[in-house]
Amino acid sequence: MRLLIFGPPGAGKGTQSLIIAKHYNIPHISTGDLFREHIRNDSPLGIEAKRYSEAGELVPDTVTNEMVRTRLLEPDTEHGFLLDGFPRTPKQAEALEIMMPDGTSIHAVLNMLVPEEELLKRLSTRGRQDDELETIRRRLRIYHDKTEPLAEYYRDRGILLDIHGVGTIESITKQIIDGIESLR
Ligand code: AMP
Repeated sequence: MRLLIFGPPGAGKGTQSLIIAKHYNIPHISTGDLFREHIRNDSPLGIEAKRYSEAGELVPDTVTNEMVRTRLLEPDTEHGFLLDGFPRTPKQAEALEIMMPDGTSIHAVLNMLVPEEELLKRLSTRGRQDDELETIRRRLRIYHDKTEPLAEYYRDRGILLDIHGVGTIESITKQIIDGIESLR
């Protein structure tokens, strides 16, 4: 099972990703987590990524695509993966198509939808370093401009699932699993 999940910051991607990855027994690969790990380790990639991620900007594609390509070569992805936070632009989606092993494809793309007012409420209480109000607003704007067009990219391919991300964790998980199963 090869899945993608995207949604604005605060949409509950992280929470649902863990549950869904466990349900399908596939690795959860979060590019945000990978970048944070590189930054913690002060690796050359981490040093490059730090100034972008702290400002809430996207890390350049050359760096990001290479990091994802390398991760998808790990043997644990053989039977699938849940990719969280990548692609984040239609251009990255094209890059992903080229990285996918021959004969494999993405089964479903989860588009987490949460009203902006609710996002601001959730993010202002989360307390992560990139959760300052100014940075939050920038991240939401970048999401709107660069990532939202991904929905049409995958809707055209017939694999997009719109998920309404307000409600109990269980009810959102059920929407996701029912949606994935309806595409099988
Ligand atoms: P996240 O935890 O998914 O919100 O990611 C945290 C930060 O990592 C983002 O604000 C970006 O700076 C960077 N990042 C994560 N994924 C990507 C991506 N696909 N392309 C560019 N930058 C990314």
